Amino acid sequence: MTSELETLIRTRRDLHRHPEIGFQEHRTAGIAAERLRTAGYEVRTGIAETGLVGTLHGGAGDGPTLLLRADMDALPIQEECTHDFVSTVGGTMHACGHDAHVAIGLAVAERLAAGRGGWRGTVKYVFQPAEEGLGGALRMVEEGVLEGVDAAMGLHVWTTLPSGTVGVVAGPFMASAAEFRITVRGKGGHGASPHETVDAVLVACQIVVALQSIVARNIHPLHPAVVTVGAFHAGNAFNVIAETATLKGTVRAFDPELCEELPRRIEQVVQGVCAAFGAEYELYYHRNTPPTVNDPRMTELVRRTAAEIVGEERVHSDPGVRTMGAEDFGEFLLRVPGCYFFVGCRNEETGAAYPHHNPRFDICENSLPVAVDVLERAALAYLAGGALTGDGR
Ligand SMILES: [Zn+2]
Ligand SMILES: [Zn+2]
Repeated sequence: MTSELETLIRTRRDLHRHPEIGFQEHRTAGIAAERLRTAGYEVRTGIAETGLVGTLHGGAGDGPTLLLRADMDALPIQEECTHDFVSTVGGTMHACGHDAHVAIGLAVAERLAAGRGGWRGTVKYVFQPAEEGLGGALRMVEEGVLEGVDAAMGLHVWTTLPSGTVGVVAGPFMASAAEFRITVRGKGGHGASPHETVDAVLVACQIVVALQSIVARNIHPLHPAVVTVGAFHAGNAFNVIAETATLKGTVRAFDPELCEELPRRIEQVVQGVCAAFGAEYELYYHRNTPPTVNDPRMTELVRRTAAEIVGEERVHSDPGVRTMGAEDFGEFLLRVPGCYFFVGCRNEETGAAYPHHNPRFDICENSLPVAVDVLERAALAYLAGGALTGDGR
């Protein structure tokens, strides 16, 4: 008989060996569907292409419907880890820990099924494709997974926090993410005759600098925001003044009003700088994900449950746990109350010390049973009415 812990680790390592990028998680989804069916869930596949939902009713009667979610996709990264379960797919790697999320999700789903007689209500277990910037969560919402759902919970293994700890904060927890592309159009010409040109490189440089003044001088210092220009492309030759320049970047914020205001302010800056230098511009701005905002009562329920499992001193609820990183679980929390939390997976001794999306990213596997315990018990506490009555269990 294989123990739950052995199954957890074996599943996570198997998925790690066989990573699949967004909307291509066919093997992963197949494994999840089979395990859910075996456990007694009614399974619907092919939602948002490779996504699936397992539904299970508790044996103790009617009650609320709780959505639990695990994301399944890997990243287009060439793995540089040296353990014996490295990716077998060139250029593809589970560098964010979503392999762990699927393994944890299946273990929680199986526990809930085994204890089905003791709880009331309904669990909808969502295995979501394409979290990494491809909009998998929104697709699943559009295809109806939130119908009848009263609350949602999810987690991320988190390398900033040590293994054996949990991070959970009420309110905005992870930032919104938007991307922009600015094309500056000047007038190209000879490098020796600048007076006959409008230099797109010079204009774009002014824009990069002026954009930094938005966070530094327009946004309230206590409201976090980030404007990053990540790419700058212009020109081809040393003696030619470039006609066009393209900037690409990302914008992060917690506050919904800021999410509205930032693109307006960015356009004002671009417009003003271009007018001053006689250039024209095109601005593309796209909101990828809303902020992930935790409901206070659901958060308190998760915090209390985590404290019972790992101890009060190992649960971090200070604002410093929050991140300007984004997570498309925000799409669920925009529509139903819920809680998203971090399970620490850092362990310098086992080499689990690299950031997410790094080619050497790894997790401390001792974090897996912690995640299963916290998520399962928090789910049961919610189904027992904990978040509504405020008594926690
Ligand atoms: Zn990621
Ligand atoms: Zn992730």
